[in-house]
This record gives sequence, C-alpha cells and structure tokens, in this order.
Amino acid sequence: MEIHTNIPIKNFTTMRLGGKARFMTDIFKTEDIAKIFQNAKAQNLPIFIMGGGSNLIARDEGYNGIILKIKIPGFEKMADDINSTTIKIGAGEDWDSVVKRTVDMSLSGIEAMSAIPGTIGAAPVQNIGAYGQEIADTLISLEAYDTENEEFVNLTHEDCNFSYRKSIFNSLDKGRYIITSITLKLSKNQPTPPFYDSLQKYLDENNIKIYTQQTIRDAVIKIRASKLPDPKIMANSGSFFKNAIAEKWQLDEIKNKYPDIPTYDMGDGKFKIPTGWLIEQAGFKGQLINGIRVYDKNALVLVNESATSYNDLEIAKNQIIRKIRDIFRVEIEQEPNEIQ
Ligand SMILES: Cc1cc2nc3c(=O)[nH]c(=O)nc-3n(C[C@H](O)[C@H](O)[C@H](O)COP(=O)(O)OP(=O)(O)OC[C@H]3O[C@@H](n4cnc5c(N)ncnc54)[C@H](O)[C@@H]3O)c2cc1C
Repeated sequence: MEIHTNIPIKNFTTMRLGGKARFMTDIFKTEDIAKIFQNAKAQNLPIFIMGGGSNLIARDEGYNGIILKIKIPGFEKMADDINSTTIKIGAGEDWDSVVKRTVDMSLSGIEAMSAIPGTIGAAPVQNIGAYGQEIADTLISLEAYDTENEEFVNLTHEDCNFSYRKSIFNSLDKGRYIITSITLKLSKNQPTPPFYDSLQKYLDENNIKIYTQQTIRDAVIKIRASKLPDPKIMANSGSFFKNAIAEKWQLDEIKNKYPDIPTYDMGDGKFKIPTGWLIEQAGFKGQLINGIRVYDKNALVLVNESATSYNDLEIAKNQIIRKIRDIFRVEIEQEPNEIQ
C-alpha cells in the first residue's frame, strides 16, 4: 500500500475545488481496510472514504487525515434462476461500467441509472436514483467494515434503511461503515412501462416502441447528455441541491403566486418541489456568481467555471439559498457531501 502526502484533493473530485489531503492511499484489497484503520487509529488520524469524488466537495482547509480511495474490484454471479440473477460487485468498480455489463447480460433493474458517475461502493450511500429506479430497488445486501465495532459485517437491505437519497450511511451512521461490496438481484424480465415521465416522452418522441434494457439505457444516456454537463469537460457535482420538501400550507402559499408550480405528492402530507424550478424562477439560471455558473440547461447543477476556492462556491450557494428562502419561504439543501 503506497501512502501519498499533501495531495491536492481537487484533482480527485469532479467539482475540482478545495485544499490538500495530509495523506491519501488507494485500497485494492478488502483486508487492507482493517490494517489501515488500526494504524490510523493508533496515530489518532481521522479517515475519510472516497470513491470517484463525484458527490464530494473539499473545503479550502483540505483534510488533516487520511483519505482512502476505494478501488476494490469484483463482479461475481452468486445465484441464478429463471427470473433473476444475483451478482456481488466490488465497491471500487465503476458504476456505469457495471450497468453496461448487466444490460449486456439482458438483466433489468439498474438500466435507467445509466451514466451516473461514481463507484459501486458509493451507490448505497445516498441511495442513488434516476428515471424511476433507485439502488434500493435491487440491492439485497452489502459487505462493509464497521469502524465502530472494528469488524467486517454483512448488512441486509432492511439494515440500510433506504429512502429518497438517504440511507444509514449518510444519516444515522454517517462515516461508520466502509462499504467493500454490494449484492444486487436483477430481473431477467424486459423493462415494462409505465416509465418515468420524461423517459416515456423521449421514447414516444423517438418512436421507440420496443423496450429492452439496451433501448432504455440508450435513451437515458441521450436524455442525460442533453441536460447534464460531463464532469470531464465542465467541473460539477451533478445536482447541487436536493429537491425541496414543502408542507401543504407552504405549497398553498406558493401556489397563490405560482399556480403552475410542478409538485410531487409524497403521500405523507408533504410535497416535493423541483429545486431546479425554484432556482429558475428566482432568476439564477445561466448566471455566473463568483466563478460558479448556474448551468443554463439545468438550474439544479452548479458548474465550477472559474472559482478558485471553496469559499467562492459557498458564496454562490448561500446567495441562491437565501433568495429561494426570501421568495418562496422554502429551505433548500446542498446534496453533495463535504470532506470533513
Ligand atoms: C454529472 C453528474 C450527474 C449525477 N447524476 C446523479 C443521478 O442521476 N442520481 C444520483 O443519485 N446521483 C447523481 N450524481 C451524484 C453521484 O454521481 C453519486 O452520488 C455517486 O454515487 C457518487 O459516487 P462516487 O464514487 O463519486 O462517490 P464520492 O463522491 O467519492 O463519495 C460520495 C459519498 O459516499 C461516501 N463513500 C464513497 N465510497 C464509499 C464506500 N466504499 N463506503 C462508504 N462510503 C463511501 C463518501 O465518503 C461520500 O460521503 C451525479 C453526479 C454528477 C457529477
């Protein structure tokens, strides 16, 4: 295991901002995790886990500890029956390469999540989702190192307590588990409608009537390319804000002024409001604030065009949050995690 010192974190996150990590190392083997954890603990050195850095923001002060970049490989068929195939996948595998591989095997369950950047191990953390699918739909269990009890554990789907962009890994047990592999049960059936509205619209408009894992993957890749900047070309972290959640009274108040507000009834008395819409209504779409551009094709995405520090991003972020609060009396929250 090679340990590097004073590494600029910005070279490893898609937002390309922030200071240096005191130490950084790549983890290729599950067993190395326990070793490095014990060493770091003996030296009182905090540990931070990183995958592809596509949902991570580094602060200007960097990280005064060791960043472990998870690169554990693996793709193993565990079970197979007439209806499904169960596959165990290493946490360091690239998410989209795995989606492609399962689509090539004519398996369904993650094809609508094509082209999401990042690693397999990070997927359960925020219960990644897109176009009507989320990892919680197919994940049956995962393996992780529990830094609290200092042992490797197997967590079931129920243990993960998944909900919208949430799991124990980004809430109650944040930072506790280092995920080493996940196990997915994928269906051998072809994808069937109804599909997510914008996906169905694309399929209809392009006269695509045969629904296979491959046609859904191709459609999703096309739709995403038209409204999400490629982080290899434009530095960004995807959706920078979570969708807003409003109470009925808040929504009624907004509707008085904006009767056409798009909403999604969450069924628990609360309503999801697309934050991109709020940002657009507030007049930010396409604007440049302190080197941070509110992406003109999708106001939910902030692009680092010429910002040089985390501070620049924070100014832009706070300006947007404040104006949304002033106009709509709704709180919006940052989606990407921060290294701290
Ligand atoms: C252009 C773009 C589009 C995107 N579109 C979507 C989308 O459609 N849907 C969606 O849900 N997300 C989307 N994202 C966000 C991002 O791709 C996902 O959150 C992805 O899962 C992050 O993977 P990563 O490996 O880059 O994780 P990182 O950014 O490296 O880490 C994210 C979090 O997971 C933790 N983590 C990483 N690996 C592990 C591990 N092995 N064990 C424990 N914790 C770990 C980190 O500590 C951190 O808290 C998008 C991002 C970009 C840049």
